[in-house]
Amino acid sequence: GAAKNEGNAVRFFNSEMQVEVTRRTRIETALRKALRQGSLNFHLQSQVDESGRIFGMEALLRWHDPELGQVAPSDFIPVAETCGLIVPLGEWVIERACEMLASWQSDPLMSTLTLAINISPRQFHNERFVDHAVKCLEKNQIDATKLELEVTEGLLIENVAATVDKMDRLRQLGIRFSLDDFGTGYASLGYLKRLPLTQLKIDQSFVRDLLVDANDEAIVRTILALGHSLNLRVLAEGVETDLQAERLREMGCRFFQGYFFSRPQPEPNWREQLLLTQGSDDKPGVRPADDH
Ligand code: C2E
Ligand code: MG
Ligand code: MG
Ligand code: MG
Repeated sequence: GAAKNEGNAVRFFNSEMQVEVTRRTRIETALRKALRQGSLNFHLQSQVDESGRIFGMEALLRWHDPELGQVAPSDFIPVAETCGLIVPLGEWVIERACEMLASWQSDPLMSTLTLAINISPRQFHNERFVDHAVKCLEKNQIDATKLELEVTEGLLIENVAATVDKMDRLRQLGIRFSLDDFGTGYASLGYLKRLPLTQLKIDQSFVRDLLVDANDEAIVRTILALGHSLNLRVLAEGVETDLQAERLREMGCRFFQGYFFSRPQPEPNWREQLLLTQGSDDKPGVRPADDH
C-alpha cells in the first residue's frame, strides 16, 4: 500500500544520498592528497579573434587520480567549494598561473598572450584573496594586465558592495575580469554596470543550438548588444563548428573559444603549435588531439 511505497521511496532516497556522500568524501580525500603531492595540472585552451589569431589562453584544471582515474573539474570543483579546499586549490592555481606568465615573458611566441583562470565565489570571498594575488604578481614580476580572472554571477550572492570593492582593487592593479557562463546565473543586469569587467563570455549552452534554436539566437544577439553597449568585449565559448563560428561572426561576435579552434591541451603542445603556425597563413586552430 501507500505506506510501503513511501518506505521504499525513503530508503531509495537515503541510499542515493549515501552514495553521493561517499563519492564526495572520496573526492575530498584524494584531492587533499593531490594538492599535497602536486599531481594537478592545467590544460590550456586558446582564445581567438575574428581573424583566427590566438590572443589568449584559458587555464583549465586537470586531475588524474591513481584510483579515481581522470576526474573532471565539474566533479571536483563543487566538492572543493563545499569542503573549503577551494582556497588552497585556488591559491595554487594563481601561483602556477603567475609562474607561467613569468615564464612566457621572455618567449616571443607566448609573451603577448593573456592567461585566464577561473575563480570560484568562495575562493574570491576568502579574506586572503586580494593579498595573495598581489603577492603572486609581485613575486613573479609579471604584467598584471596579462592576467584575467574569470568569475561567475554566483559571486554576487554575497555582499555586492564588498565584492565590487575587491574587484576594483584588483582591476586598479591591471588585472582583467571576465564574466564567465554569462546568461546562466541570476544576477540582475543592474549589477553589470557596477562591476569592473572587461569581457562577457556567452555561455556555451546558448552557442550549442544557435543554428537551430531561435531562442538561443535571440539570447546571443541580446548578450552581444548588451556587452557592446557597455563597452565590453564579448567572447563566445563552446564554439564547435565552422557554421557556429560563421553565424557568430555575422552577428557581430569577434572573440571565440571552443573545440572548433582548439581542444584544451598541455602547455608544451602550444609552444610547438605556435611555432609551426607562426608566419604561415594557416589558421592557428587546426584541431589537435583530444585531451581526455
Ligand atoms: P568554464 O570556465 O566555463 O570552462 C569551459 C569548459 O568547457 C571547460 O570544461 C572546457 O574544456 C569546455 N569546453 C571548451 N570548449 C568547448 C566546446 O567547444 N564544447 C564543449 N562541449 N565544451 C568545451 P572543463 O575543463 O571540464 O571545466 C569545467 C568547469 O570547471 C569550467 O567551466 C570552470 O567553471 C571549472 N574550472 C576549471 N578549471 C578551474 C580552476 O582552475 N578553478 C576553478 N575555480 N574552476 C575551474
Ligand atoms: Mg572559464
Ligand atoms: Mg564558461
Ligand atoms: Mg562553467
